Amino acid sequence: MTIAFIDLAAQQRRLKPQIDAAIQKVLAHGAYVMGPEVREFEAQLAAFGQARRALSCANGTDAIALPLMAWGIGAGDAVFCPSFTFAATPEVVPWTGAEPVFVDVLEDTYNLDPDKLEAAIAAIKAEGRLEPRAVIAVDLFGQPADYPRIAEIARRHGLKLIADSAQGFGGSLHGKHPIHWADVATTSFFPAKPLGCYGDGGAVLTNDDALWDVMDSLRVHGKAVAADLEGRSFDHDPKYLNTRIGMNSRLDTLQAAILIEKLAVFASEIEARQTVAARYAEGLSDVVKVPAVISGGVSVWAQYTVEHDDRDGLAAHLKTQGVPTAAYYPVPMHRQAPYAHYPQPGGLPVSEAAADRVIALPMHAYLEADIQDRIIAAVRGYNG
Ligand SMILES: *Cc1c(COP(=O)(O)O)cnc(C)c1O
Repeated sequence: MTIAFIDLAAQQRRLKPQIDAAIQKVLAHGAYVMGPEVREFEAQLAAFGQARRALSCANGTDAIALPLMAWGIGAGDAVFCPSFTFAATPEVVPWTGAEPVFVDVLEDTYNLDPDKLEAAIAAIKAEGRLEPRAVIAVDLFGQPADYPRIAEIARRHGLKLIADSAQGFGGSLHGKHPIHWADVATTSFFPAKPLGCYGDGGAVLTNDDALWDVMDSLRVHGKAVAADLEGRSFDHDPKYLNTRIGMNSRLDTLQAAILIEKLAVFASEIEARQTVAARYAEGLSDVVKVPAVISGGVSVWAQYTVEHDDRDGLAAHLKTQGVPTAAYYPVPMHRQAPYAHYPQPGGLPVSEAAADRVIALPMHAYLEADIQDRIIAAVRGYNG
């Protein structure tokens, strides 16, 4: 039997009747774009993530771009972010005309190193070419970044803070979700993420009503929102009044309907992921470097990433044993051609070393103990 890296079919077997009914309901009412399920899901998502509001959008990449656009970040601005992350994190920064500034990560959690963030801000200020405006912290592989320290640094320097929780939505630190510290938390509903839909989707969580309104405008071509219309009258339908340059970034009603059903079991899935992660740690900690979670943190284990001196040899061996693996990420962003010219003050030795050593094992909420034992035995059987 082949082992799944992420078993979406097992989850579907659990939820099929609810999801089928939810889809049929949307087909019956026919409001495929911005239908009632979108608002319903946004309210439920905000509650789950401990935020006042959630704004759904087309994907987790746009979710990072929307607040940057709403804050007016652009040419001449610096946005600090890790290099050891998925491309979407730095990618949206040049969309606005601003530049990503790459900051190294911590060796044990792979998340933004607060000391190196502080040093990078100082270096950019000293150079004087760019104005520091925002920080994007990433909850890599599912665990929260060091938000208390990162938020303190961001506040002190007057920078906005985005929590890129595409992999970490549902994770917490001392019982609090990232929005407790960040100005916005963003997530992705790409199918393989811990909370995924059946296509593309994303969301921004915030406690700032005015920001929510501007992002609501931006996601629908800069449409006029209540604040834009205040005290003004129009002799035409304000639906076609465009008050800023926006984009088209909506979550489909069908995806919202599916996500309502998936969110209903998400807490139990996060629990199940803890059991899987604990079993891996117990079975593997003496043969590979198993992941460390920040003190007080709960990871949603988007990935279970271990380190090995001979990562490629281990991957090849596991393949012969029918165990799929993946290397996230083999090339850090500052080493990718389109990003290589952006500032990287202080260098990124930890990101570069991790890129050569990391290997992710199968991880999902439905991984059965006997299959997991086969994976553990296969890893232990490698004498590279
Ligand atoms: C997946 C991911 C994104 C982007 O999400 P999409 O929905 O694929 O656009 C952003 N940041 C990180 C860290 C991700 O893993």
